[in-house]
Amino acid sequence: MIGRALIEDFPILQQKIGDAPLVYLDSAASSQKPRAVIEAISRYYEHDHANVHRGVHTLGSRATEAYEGAREKVRRFIHARRASEIVFTRGTTASLNLIAKTYGEAKLGPGDEIVLTPNEHHANLLPWQRLARQTGARLVFVEPSPEGILDETRLTQAISPRTKIVALAHVSNVLGTIQPIQAAAARVHEVGGVIVIDGAQSVPHMPYDVQALDIDFLAFSGHKMLGPTGIGVLYGKYELLKDMEPYELGGEMIDTVSLHEATWRDPPWRFEAGTPPIAEAVGLAAAIDYLEGLGMNEVEAHVLRLTESATRALGEIPGVTIYGPRAGRHAVLTFNIGSIHAHDTATVFDSMGIAVRAGHHCAQPLMKRLGVNSTVRASFYVYNDMQDVEALVAGVHHVKEFFGDVFG
Ligand code: PLP
Repeated sequence: MIGRALIEDFPILQQKIGDAPLVYLDSAASSQKPRAVIEAISRYYEHDHANVHRGVHTLGSRATEAYEGAREKVRRFIHARRASEIVFTRGTTASLNLIAKTYGEAKLGPGDEIVLTPNEHHANLLPWQRLARQTGARLVFVEPSPEGILDETRLTQAISPRTKIVALAHVSNVLGTIQPIQAAAARVHEVGGVIVIDGAQSVPHMPYDVQALDIDFLAFSGHKMLGPTGIGVLYGKYELLKDMEPYELGGEMIDTVSLHEATWRDPPWRFEAGTPPIAEAVGLAAAIDYLEGLGMNEVEAHVLRLTESATRALGEIPGVTIYGPRAGRHAVLTFNIGSIHAHDTATVFDSMGIAVRAGHHCAQPLMKRLGVNSTVRASFYVYNDMQDVEALVAGVHHVKEFFGDVFG
């Protein structure tokens, strides 16, 4: 079972906005949470909470078990080799910053190159900009097609012996395009570099196997995959993590401390200074259970089906501009209606109970390439259905009527 029938499990989706039932099409920004996740967090606070890795008391052991159990669950979900390759962070942004600051600053120098695309989310651009400024390395942008499709040959040809890092979103949060990360991984490994994958829009939607993809570092966020805010993951191959310096320093990440020196624990704890997001890890584990209950193959097929139907339907409405490819896009549909500002469209949608994102989607360089300041983005997840696609289509017609004079 997948689609609207799941709304039973999502209390927040059962409400009305004004008189209209809520149609939630903003899961790419943040997904909603099933009762199972909310209850797992409540249960943890009601029965098991204490700090982790410290107390010898019962609650401390339970909390530690729950936290480390969540790590093992994430390991299985992305098929990492060992749980010590899973670092809990605040989210995708924090994970990418951690890699740039620790691995990046240690490994890059003048003349080295970081290969990426101009379509990246700011979270996968700004940390590399700063790293390049600090080390004298150079950013190399591989141009996608006007539709946003990244040609595999073009990408692999941009990777040279100077390339130390390839940093790519697996799935674009604006265009829904799927990047050829496997070919990039194979090529960058030939020249001794690493690949960093921004999995914010891919891990929530597809079966994932970091070993099969041969990814060196992967970043993703719990809140986009039915889990709570405040937790994300940095996956790193153990042989890379074990040679990296910590990012933050403080409690829980040390082996020994004297007044002038300290030594670090092994990964992943080396990268988890201070009290970690324990309840959030419990919630993320419950979210993974829920997604696995649906089956990730089914989740992927479902979001692809809805995105494809919505793209086809909106593509047939005169005056609608769709950004990115018409087919093969993953979970997000980005568009504008005539010359109507995206915020105006989203405001009219909201009056109909339809929640979408409007703006630059944290991808200003891509917006510039598209020649717009902002776009509307509808995104789909497990609890959406064809009914929501129909509501979106009705919404577009309503916006056109509302701003009729724009269309003459
Ligand atoms: N990368 C991509 C592709 C995203 O879509 C997002 C969130 O929208 C992020 C990174 C940042 O994620 P977070 O805000 O959870 O750190």
